[in-house]
Amino acid sequence: MAWDFETEPEFEAQLQWMRTFVDTELIPLEPIFAELPADEWATVKTHLQAKVKERNLWGAFLDPKLGGPGYGQLKLALMSEIIGRCMMSMTIFGVQAPDSGNMELLAHGATDAQKERWLWPNLRGEISSAFALTEPFLAGSDPTVIGTTATRDGDEWVIEGHKWFITNASVADIVLVLAETNPDGRPHRHASILVVPTGTPGMEIVRDIGTMAHPDVEYGRPGNHAEIVFRDCRVPADHLIGGPGDGFVLAQQRLGGGRIHHAMRWLGQAQRSLDIMCERAVSRTSHGKLLAQHQMVQDYVALSHTEIQAARLLTFQTAWKMDRHGASAVRAELGMVKAHVSKVVLAVLDRTIQVCGALGYSSDLPVEEWYRTTRFGPIGDGPDELHKSVLARTILKGYAPVEGWPTEHVPSRRPAAEEKWAALRAEAGLP
Ligand SMILES: Cc1cc2nc3c(=O)[nH]c(=O)nc-3n(C[C@H](O)[C@H](O)[C@H](O)COP(=O)(O)OP(=O)(O)OC[C@H]3O[C@@H](n4cnc5c(N)ncnc54)[C@H](O)[C@@H]3O)c2cc1C
Repeated sequence: MAWDFETEPEFEAQLQWMRTFVDTELIPLEPIFAELPADEWATVKTHLQAKVKERNLWGAFLDPKLGGPGYGQLKLALMSEIIGRCMMSMTIFGVQAPDSGNMELLAHGATDAQKERWLWPNLRGEISSAFALTEPFLAGSDPTVIGTTATRDGDEWVIEGHKWFITNASVADIVLVLAETNPDGRPHRHASILVVPTGTPGMEIVRDIGTMAHPDVEYGRPGNHAEIVFRDCRVPADHLIGGPGDGFVLAQQRLGGGRIHHAMRWLGQAQRSLDIMCERAVSRTSHGKLLAQHQMVQDYVALSHTEIQAARLLTFQTAWKMDRHGASAVRAELGMVKAHVSKVVLAVLDRTIQVCGALGYSSDLPVEEWYRTTRFGPIGDGPDELHKSVLARTILKGYAPVEGWPTEHVPSRRPAAEEKWAALRAEAGLP
């Protein structure tokens, strides 16, 4: 069957297990999660991860040949909706960014020896990784212009530069750094990816940056975003992933999948937020009736539900296309999904805050934190403006200019219409 909206019973059973696991083992911890002692959480986390691994649900974004269970992107989307309901789930299911993208990059570009050293330990959750592209003064939205350089000196690469917003760099074991190695190869063959182990002399993690999500950031917590300076930072030649100049292509491979994976998880967050909105709407009264009976609140509920369902279909269809044709065939659509779903989830979170009033604005509900955290969506992994621009350019490639009136110009089409009518009349046997 070409179009099928049903989930296979065996996989539905896996999803049901995930829903129960997230609802009963993870969500209940949320109110105290930030206070849990780090060493004890590390032990409990491993215990929970073991349960996920036992169900063959660990690292679901990777194909079997890359060490994952190989469910494909559509099933991953269904799983990610559940994972997205609770922020800590990503680590428990082994799909947390930036590790997931880094593993995809290493799976595609690393040699067997490099995989042994960095990919498989990362996949097993024994080490963690960060990815350093963005710079305070150059590359951000435009990675074709980067200021960080890597120069070959004997058996070493010497890195000089300045990166920032590097998620998890202050806690990671390795940082994958995009640095310019081949200036002549600009715009797309100029950079390379080098693995820099934490503690390498010359790589200084200057600070973790305060953000909307964590204005009073505490250095060295997972999920922080670091500023890094490289000065005469030397790594052995075999820390280069792929060949010199392959960095941009490898980074694109990593970022493409990552964009839709964010969107898949946002769907779960959006639905949980809508649940909060609806529960409040049927519980609280104002001006003599339930909030749910005010038509503007009904509009928020209906619009949010419709937007989530439409976003799900868009995401699932793109995931299905990825399974069929590969990520590179749907590159523009991956950006489209990210740009669309980031807007939907923020709109739903915003409406939930509104319907819950002061309570919604307060940290007595989790929505304000989700809003602050998810606000990175339209910026991170390339701003949405860029994705929309790529999408528009891709669409426009299918069109050719016309001289004079547009093809659909009604007066110009009239003679052809009359001719067609005469022919059809004759065909039908009219005199
Ligand atoms: C929470 C978070 C985590 C991040 N983690 C990482 C990480 O781990 N590693 C990493 O390398 N980076 C990371 N980043 C950085 C992220 O990838 C960049 O913020 C993003 O690519 C945009 O780059 P920029 O911030 O430099 O914005 P700029 O390039 O300065 O752009 C600023 C704004 O200009 C506009 N703009 C830019 N280009 C265009 C265009 N072509 N058309 C129209 N408008 C445009 C957009 O409005 C854009 O938001 C993270 C960012 C956030 C917020």
